[in-house]
Amino acid sequence: MYKLIDGKVISAAVKERVKAEVATLKEQGITTGLAVIIVGEDPASKVYVNNKKKACEALGIISEEYALLETTTQEELLSLIDTLNKKESINGILCQLPLPKHLDETAVINAILPEKDVDAFHPINVGKIMQGDFDFVPCTPAGVMEMLAFEGIEIAGKTCVVIGRSNIVGKPMAMLLLHKNGTVTICHSRTKNLKEVCQNADILVAAVGRPNFVTADMVKEGAVVIDVGINRVDGKLIGDVNFGEVCEKASYITPVPGGVGPMTIAMLMQNTLTAAKKQNKVN
Ligand code: NAD
Repeated sequence: MYKLIDGKVISAAVKERVKAEVATLKEQGITTGLAVIIVGEDPASKVYVNNKKKACEALGIISEEYALLETTTQEELLSLIDTLNKKESINGILCQLPLPKHLDETAVINAILPEKDVDAFHPINVGKIMQGDFDFVPCTPAGVMEMLAFEGIEIAGKTCVVIGRSNIVGKPMAMLLLHKNGTVTICHSRTKNLKEVCQNADILVAAVGRPNFVTADMVKEGAVVIDVGINRVDGKLIGDVNFGEVCEKASYITPVPGGVGPMTIAMLMQNTLTAAKKQNKVN
């Protein structure tokens, strides 16, 4: 019998914690502020940005939204980031990706001050994650770690397999599991014996972007299965894990929707609070 890891419940607990701390800071005259930049009209990005704004409002975090035209130039975008880097009331800056093709994403990420980089995409923050001494962690892998901790799932000594090697999910996910003393394997599109590798996993994280990719024959009896995937199929959200069959073998499993998804925004709020505390030298 599996236990469902409920992202709605766990993200609500994280948000409550953040809300209380934001209020405590406010009593000390310290505000917490997040700036979100969106360029162009991508509908999915608009939904994400709107959700981030709503989360800020609910938690007492000041949110500033900068909706720029699709035709915005690199110079204009970098100039805005420079202004926000210097703006004291803004503790965190997030530029919603992907950007329109004519803009240089790497240059934009590198322009955000590392201490305001609440997505943890800046090379300084990426390097810190590698070293295991970091303030910010990319929100999705951070959310997965929060879920494992909430459920009291031990990582040390466990065989952990992460499917996917993106900079946003797969790679930082693997590093976080490693820092908790998991024995970690990263699989990707060129992995030859994927099924056999996955069958060894005590903790299996799927971040592939293919609906129902992980099937029961890839999963060890009693494994913890974390589904990061968000795939839109006929207007429905489908994970990377074939939940219907994998749940029969898993000890713990996350659903889609209502699993890792809600955690991502909660961890963004957490990172914004961390930024405000650091910038105001509050422990
Ligand atoms: P990505 O496309 O950057 O990376 C996908 C990875 O999957 C790649 O590293 C690739 O090597 C690997 N892959 C592709 N085909 C494979 C195969 N046949 N076998 C093994 N590996 C294969 O995607 P991403 O940004 O890492 O996102 C992954 C998924 O997670 C997507 O569905 C995305 O929507 C979702 N996502 C969810 C959240 C959330 O908040 N829950 C946040 C970010 C991403």
